[in-house]
Amino acid sequence: NRRIVLASLPNGAPTSRNFRLEEVPVPTAGEGQVLLRTVYLSLDPYMRNLMDEVGPGYAPPVKPGEPMVGGTVSRVVESRHPGFRPGEQVLSNAGWQDYAVSDGKDLVSLGGMARPSLALGGLGMPAFTAYVGLLDIGQPKAGETVVVAAATGAVGAVVGQLAKLRGARVVGIAGGQDKCRYAVEELGFDVCLDRRDGNLAERLAAACPNGIDVYFENVGGEVFDAVIPLLNNGARVPVCGFIAHYNAASLPPGPNRLPLLMAAVLQKRIRMEGFIILDHYATRFEAFRRDMGAWVDAGKVKLREDVVEGLENAPSAFIGLLEGRNFGKLVVRVGDE
Ligand code: NDP
Repeated sequence: NRRIVLASLPNGAPTSRNFRLEEVPVPTAGEGQVLLRTVYLSLDPYMRNLMDEVGPGYAPPVKPGEPMVGGTVSRVVESRHPGFRPGEQVLSNAGWQDYAVSDGKDLVSLGGMARPSLALGGLGMPAFTAYVGLLDIGQPKAGETVVVAAATGAVGAVVGQLAKLRGARVVGIAGGQDKCRYAVEELGFDVCLDRRDGNLAERLAAACPNGIDVYFENVGGEVFDAVIPLLNNGARVPVCGFIAHYNAASLPPGPNRLPLLMAAVLQKRIRMEGFIILDHYATRFEAFRRDMGAWVDAGKVKLREDVVEGLENAPSAFIGLLEGRNFGKLVVRVGDE
């Protein structure tokens, strides 16, 4: 039974030295528990926030020596729980390890789902985040301009495609020509700008001649700086994440631009609203599952996965996620379906 623990807290960007692969005995399922074999492990940006001493507030931080946590698709190996039988696949939180035990409370049976890994991406948490953030908070209307960065990622790709379904004009921002081409040719974005090309503010202004009505905030940093002057009166800014800052060990140098942002929020009557997707499962997940399932089946929403082979490669894949090396929803294949 292999598992990856947090070896030490990162100072800035995580390195391979912050992780350690350990061999431990396979745990045994007690009365009322199930033994799970990990099939797919989801790697997500929030895990970087769990590696900070204080953590993000909505979930406890991982402490040095503890296994890294994470959502998984797992197979029930042994069941001493009446609700689960051996062989079935479940959505679970088994973390970065081969085996785990669960009392069943956090498990969701996946039935005979054709592509179970999608439960971690396009039919699961990241796409649900796009759905709630864009449709409930962003509320794009036909003809409006929607901007989203990390545009080919797990959340961003769905944001852009749902905005197109609502009749909006969609401008994506992504790292590299391949991602930008994919966003336009495969996902149907109107435009996609390479964030590494320089002069982003000018290029974004040229791509948004009518300003920006919805900015779905995934990254912060340079992208947000370029967006602020283009926001229209009454613009909506769902604040989903700001990955460009997750590795920062201190505040950025230079002039404090907070007054600039506050002036824009006030004068343009902008609505910025942060949200944590965990809060929305009880009320919105059923509607998401119905809508998203129908869109995917009809080919209206395309889902791309970036599948990395082997638990031992999870640390390098995760480090790459924070640098933009993933192309699509990042998952690790840990064991056989
Ligand atoms: P992605 O699949 O989009 O992968 C992360 C991407 O972020 C990279 O591929 C890269 O895309 C981009 N990126 C990485 N570093 C930087 C940087 N320094 N500057 C700009 N872009 C960068 O991840 P997700 O779709 O899972 O997550 C997207 C965002 O959504 C994150 O901020 C995440 O924290 C947030 N989130 C929030 C949730 C909530 O409940 N509020 C729930 C789920 C996700 P590229 O190379 O194309 O620029």
